[in-house]
Amino acid sequence: MAHSIRKIGVIGAGQMGNGIAQVCALAGFSVALNDISPARIKEGLATINGNMARQVSKHTIEEKDRQTALARITPAESLDKLGDCDLVIETATEKEEVKRKIFTDLCPALKPDAILATNTSSISITRLGSVTDRPERFIGIHFMNPVPRMELVELIRGIATGDQTFEACKQFVGKLGKTIAVAEDFPAFIVNRILLPMINEAIYTLYEGVGNVEAIDTAMRLGAHHPMGPLELADFIGLDTCLSVMQVLHEGLADSKYRPCPLLVKYVEAGWLGRKTQRGFYDYRGEKPVPTR
Ligand code: NAD
Repeated sequence: MAHSIRKIGVIGAGQMGNGIAQVCALAGFSVALNDISPARIKEGLATINGNMARQVSKHTIEEKDRQTALARITPAESLDKLGDCDLVIETATEKEEVKRKIFTDLCPALKPDAILATNTSSISITRLGSVTDRPERFIGIHFMNPVPRMELVELIRGIATGDQTFEACKQFVGKLGKTIAVAEDFPAFIVNRILLPMINEAIYTLYEGVGNVEAIDTAMRLGAHHPMGPLELADFIGLDTCLSVMQVLHEGLADSKYRPCPLLVKYVEAGWLGRKTQRGFYDYRGEKPVPTR
């Protein structure tokens, strides 16, 4: 029997969680939005509201769609509020111990047939699935940032992921209007295996003084027709997430070519995580972003 997905739980109301909640609600799913911080849930709902208002002004959705979609999203201050969800998508901070703890706490609250997914950018789906009580109903659903705009979703099966789970998630992603790329469960999957070493190399290029922030981003925008320069993109992704992905590649593939650039480490240690903290390779506190080196 096909698994029928109606209600989605989203754990982590950061930039990805908000985007996932938004596209799910607009596609007609009920959504319960959780975060360890109640303030983040509130901010998340405000962000979703603002983003949908922008969609209305651009005529990509109608005002009545915005209102019905917003009404479909409810705050869930604790994990036990996700007990009636058919699919729960974990999209909290990219740290394995954080995700493991969430799954351990969450599983007893879930319906027995609920599917559990992670939006991890890099961590092994097989390893994360092994800490749950349902590795056959555990899967990677990897959305791209910003979720409402990006067309792709990577689907990653762990070693134990069952066919029914995979098919149900394929259908779910199709209902969101996204295109699927199936990736095998190896560090960082497809998109980030290719994208993050490029970003890390751009940071090495800066670190070694080959170019400054502006020169590197201009070079790749105008010289390779990338819509965003790699340092601008790193700030957009979040430098903590970039570093975590490089660490997973470095450890998981044991190849020195994935060594995270020491300058990336320094920015993260400073708490300069990019746009989300207003400072990274650019300073976003003024009217226009200003390069920080
Ligand atoms: P973010 O820092 O914007 O948000 C993370 C959220 O998780 C925060 O609101 C934090 O309060 C919350 N959180 C932390 N611990 C928690 C817990 N125990 N329970 C519930 N919530 C908790 O990060 P993000 O960019 O939204 O990334 C989230 C996930 O999505 C990561 O796994 C990341 O690798 C992945 N991802 C990120 C991108 C990107 O471009 N940023 C793209 C694809 C996937």
